[in-house]
Amino acid sequence: MDSDYEKALALLISGEIIGMPTETVYGLAGRVDFPSAIAKIFKIKNRPFFDPLIVHVSSVAMAKGLTTTWTSMIDVLAHEFWPGPLTLVLPKSSFVSDLITAGLGTVGIRMPKHELALKLIRDLGAPLAAPSANKFGRSSPTTAKHVQSEFKADSVFVLDGGPCEVGLESTVLLVDGKDLSILRAGKVSKSEIEKVLTAAKIPFSFSEMENHKASPGHMKHHYMPAIPLLLIESPQISQLPLTDLKKIVSQKMNELPAEIQGVKIIKPQSVDNFVELSLSADPTLSARQFYSSLRDCAETKADVIIFYKKEFHSGENWEALFDRMRKAASLVL
Ligand code: AMP
Ligand code: MG
Repeated sequence: MDSDYEKALALLISGEIIGMPTETVYGLAGRVDFPSAIAKIFKIKNRPFFDPLIVHVSSVAMAKGLTTTWTSMIDVLAHEFWPGPLTLVLPKSSFVSDLITAGLGTVGIRMPKHELALKLIRDLGAPLAAPSANKFGRSSPTTAKHVQSEFKADSVFVLDGGPCEVGLESTVLLVDGKDLSILRAGKVSKSEIEKVLTAAKIPFSFSEMENHKASPGHMKHHYMPAIPLLLIESPQISQLPLTDLKKIVSQKMNELPAEIQGVKIIKPQSVDNFVELSLSADPTLSARQFYSSLRDCAETKADVIIFYKKEFHSGENWEALFDRMRKAASLVL
């Protein structure tokens, strides 16, 4: 076995935390049964304690140990979508600490679709709590190098599992009896879930989650790159001459508060140089490139990253990407 893998496993066994590849984004992983590892995750991420961690498992049997409820609906969802980018939020068992769930009675559980992550969890015989491996509020990492640069000062060992295939965080689905709510959009869409449950003849009903207490950690601003992202959604604004656009952007960026919900808002020094974020016209490829391309743009040392939303960027396939894009943007026009 590869010595990096052995090292990662040994660190986890000893209660350390590591950068772990998954198919969504890289995670900062620690054993759920080591409170010191969980505390360290919050500490080095600067993550507020009200934001719960997702627990990663390698089998359905392991997932069952984390919750008090396992209905036929949950069984169908797990068998259909795991391993994969769907997190199920279920009533927690006493095995899961309040620190992991931010004091909630529920726990987010998922089985990652990455060979190395699954092997680590299997070899440990314990689930791993792992939020995305970035400082709080910043862009998620989709390569091992991104994680290393994010935690340069914290000497975190990162197991390199290549670039992430999905590139955006998992869909988070709250399951409450037969009631379902999507707390965070991801690659697994509402229609796919509906299709699977209908085919299995499982009764369900979807509701929009208005109670934000059910989805802590969903801040208005999140995933922000090192230089400000400007998202242009309005066709009128996109047609303005660049000089006029710059005037508006300069004024609006100046008016932004320093911080919103504890997240530092990235503002430009000036608005002279724009770099355009360019993404594939295919939603799957676009999601895969998104965070990496944002980091590349930030490295150009331009003042502002600009992205033009086009008419074709609509519909369910683009939902998760534009959810992240709006949150990553300092300004949406
Ligand atoms: P991250 O691991 O950084 O991608 O973030 C995990 C996100 O999943 C959190 O910010 C929450 O929004 C959501 N989440 C995790 N556990 C729960 C839970 N028990 N209830 C509701 N949302 C959760
Ligand atoms: Mg995150």
